[in-house]
Amino acid sequence: MNNFRFADCHSCLPVRPDADINMLKVHYEAGCRYVSINVGMDLQPVSQIFSTIASFRRQISESDFLIQAENFSDIERAFREEKLAVSFDLEGSLPLLDNKDTLALYKKLGLRQIHLAYNRNNSIAGGAHDPVKQGLTKFGEEIVREIHRLGILMDLSHSSEETARDICALSRTLNKPVLYSHANPRAIVKHERNISDEIIQEVAKTGGIIAINGVAKFVGSSDLNPLAMIPHIEHCAALVGTDKVAIGLDYCYDDGISDIPSDCNRGFWWPIQSGYGENGLGGKYISPENLCKICEELARLNYQEDEIAAICSKNLLVLIDKSWY
Ligand SMILES: [Zn+2]
Repeated sequence: MNNFRFADCHSCLPVRPDADINMLKVHYEAGCRYVSINVGMDLQPVSQIFSTIASFRRQISESDFLIQAENFSDIERAFREEKLAVSFDLEGSLPLLDNKDTLALYKKLGLRQIHLAYNRNNSIAGGAHDPVKQGLTKFGEEIVREIHRLGILMDLSHSSEETARDICALSRTLNKPVLYSHANPRAIVKHERNISDEIIQEVAKTGGIIAINGVAKFVGSSDLNPLAMIPHIEHCAALVGTDKVAIGLDYCYDDGISDIPSDCNRGFWWPIQSGYGENGLGGKYISPENLCKICEELARLNYQEDEIAAICSKNLLVLIDKSWY
């Protein structure tokens, strides 16, 4: 195991109750001491999401290297005791069933981070790949207020720019930070899922962070060279400061069994015209084992030790400490 320690803002296990959470050993062995994992997307039914959460909670409680991160102190303990703290996130708001009260319930089950639209518009927010540009709806405003009230991290990934702008503006009036848990600057790679400099600056004004992902098509590296993440990190750091940049690998563990419902219209959620393959997602991902190479490269580029630690873990930990309660 290397000497670097990391906090990963977002990665994915298969959203299935029979998925083996011990796959996270790869994160652990790479030096990660905190990770937020996806427990559901807009395209998965609530029954699948609930049975997955139940299974993951049991598996974490039985594990000798995982800690369920309910509070910031659980993450501090994971760093101290060399464990991996895990909390849950949702990708989209359809699992809320248009009911604000479900947020508090999900929080009790371990949810600590949520974005509101998975690529497509819904009753709450607009998605990044929807042809109809939609901001936050009136009901969406209530949802954002409740997310902040509950101390859940307000994520903007997969949202439309209009929605991101609206959430940043509302969050500023509430004096609450927001984040992109896995999004890269469009100035480096032009893709609808990547984000403009204007939005990066809006997030920074809330006191929030942008976590850079390792998805090949968003990083712009078909051969999965981890150093291809560096220009994304450097661009954000130059634009808004090294204290606003983090890592959200979006590494998707694959055990060979799909977690996408068989009747799902993949082309709707991952449109071919937006650069996805015929079968939908099918991404390639830079793995956690490569994180130390990113640190070494930042050091070679004369980033100071405290700046590297900030990008690799501290900025996210500071945000969580400020936001969760
Ligand atoms: Zn995602």
